[in-house]
Amino acid sequence: MDFNLTNEQKDIRELAHDFSEKEIRPVAWEYDKDSTWPGDIVEKAWEVGLMNSHISEEYGGPGLDYLSSCLIEEELGWGCSGIGTSLMCNGLASVPVVLGGSEEVKKEYLGRLLEEPKLASFCLTEPDAGSDVSGMRTTAEKKGDKYVINGAKTFITNGSHADWYTVYAKTDKEAGHRGISAFVVPRDAGVVVDKKEDKLGQRASDTAALSFNDVEIPEGNLLGEENKGFKLAMMTLDRTRPGVSAMAVGIGRAAFEFATEYAKERVQFGVPIAMHQAIQFMIADMATKTEAARLLVWQSAALLDQGKRNTLASSHAKRFAADSAMEIAVDAVQIYGGYGFIKEYPVEKMMRDAKIMQLYEGTSQIQRLVIARETLLPRKAEAPAEAAEASATA
Ligand SMILES: Cc1cc2nc3c(=O)[nH]c(=O)nc-3n(C[C@H](O)[C@H](O)[C@H](O)COP(=O)(O)OP(=O)(O)OC[C@H]3O[C@@H](n4cnc5c(N)ncnc54)[C@H](O)[C@@H]3O)c2cc1C
Repeated sequence: MDFNLTNEQKDIRELAHDFSEKEIRPVAWEYDKDSTWPGDIVEKAWEVGLMNSHISEEYGGPGLDYLSSCLIEEELGWGCSGIGTSLMCNGLASVPVVLGGSEEVKKEYLGRLLEEPKLASFCLTEPDAGSDVSGMRTTAEKKGDKYVINGAKTFITNGSHADWYTVYAKTDKEAGHRGISAFVVPRDAGVVVDKKEDKLGQRASDTAALSFNDVEIPEGNLLGEENKGFKLAMMTLDRTRPGVSAMAVGIGRAAFEFATEYAKERVQFGVPIAMHQAIQFMIADMATKTEAARLLVWQSAALLDQGKRNTLASSHAKRFAADSAMEIAVDAVQIYGGYGFIKEYPVEKMMRDAKIMQLYEGTSQIQRLVIARETLLPRKAEAPAEAAEASATA
């Protein structure tokens, strides 16, 4: 087993780190304060080639491996995970297009992301259908050579700014998760942005409620087969959870670094607080959690790069990296003492930002459900990634 990165992987990590350090960190706390949309940073990240890393060379993208994408996401999470989420959401929205789109749809919609710094959103969640997406109410009705979409989606990242949307809707209302289909919907087909959410953390990212009122799209915008949208969503999450977990590693690492520096400087009882064993043990646990989470992330990405199914590995990574980021951020606030609670100091933002990692792309409870199912009813580890048909919720 070789944990060394290739020169290309080291280069992309350095590029992402420099970008985070120079373009994201200096404005992160300001953008968080007023919930400022980081459109200028999206443009710069697009220019330097840090977005759309998953799109293959065939469609004009860089076609990076999954591990490289994780290296980028850890560095962006280290800079600001709110801005990082805004930059990385195109991956979540476009994997279903990569997996299920016709040649024409791939060229058109992946092409749009590569020609200009445009954004796309992934629309699965609804007000009454979160972890259990089988309860979704949005419908897509076939009328002639078109589908007509009606319904509402909630908590959609980049929803206010996206140029197009991957939308999940019922094509068979009675069939639960087996009646869901996926579609690509351009914004100008009539997608309505109802509201932008005001959030606890990741305040620079945009999270919107959307509605679809008789939105007509060509039948060719169906992704994959009719009523196979749930499987497509699960296959998408297998591919994106390593990256989102890497972002959690980045948050934890940043909080750990701030807390370590602070512990060396802050003097109480005549010595730096780092001399107190209680502080040392918190720092030691932060370090171990960061390292262990990164190893799980790398494993879940490496399986994908080898063409293997990674459902279990990506849930291990997501569960552990998200929970670790939260624990590390809480301990970082503890190490800062009262100052940790004050907005002028850096770690309170990280504590707020870390929380979402336990919620989106499958909560920590849902990851445990997947882990339990895969453990109690194991499937062949060597099965190709495409064979994955998950039966748990998003
Ligand atoms: C900032 C933000 C960005 C988001 N971005 C997107 C996006 O771009 N696209 C998108 O489609 N969605 C997005 N989401 C939605 C997110 O994926 C959901 O919020 C998440 O899946 C949980 O759904 P819910 O909020 O309805 O919670 P619920 O499903 O109602 O869950 C509530 C609680 O019950 C627990 N729970 C539910 N079922 C079980 C069970 N069977 N066993 C044990 N515990 C259970 C959950 O873990 C949670 O603790 C985003 C959410 C937020 C807050």
